[in-house]
Amino acid sequence: MLITCPKCESKARIATSKAITKDTREAYCQCMNLNCGVIFVTYTSVCRIIEPTGKKPNPNLQPELCKLEDVNQVDMFG
Ligand SMILES: [Zn+2]
Repeated sequence: MLITCPKCESKARIATSKAITKDTREAYCQCMNLNCGVIFVTYTSVCRIIEPTGKKPNPNLQPELCKLEDVNQVDMFG
């Protein structure tokens, strides 16, 4: 997912993220422009569902989707 810096409009990267609700995720982002380096927070939310199946994943086929809490990426903000 491409994140744009709100200050200098360069590319930014997602450093880490965590679930706020089952529909919303909070992400800590850092601008990749060395002259800027702004750190900011974004929210990604489910807006609407296009294909309404809602079936749970098959643990035999996709065991990684059946874990309760996903492991965050490297947390550079401690
Ligand atoms: Zn920036």
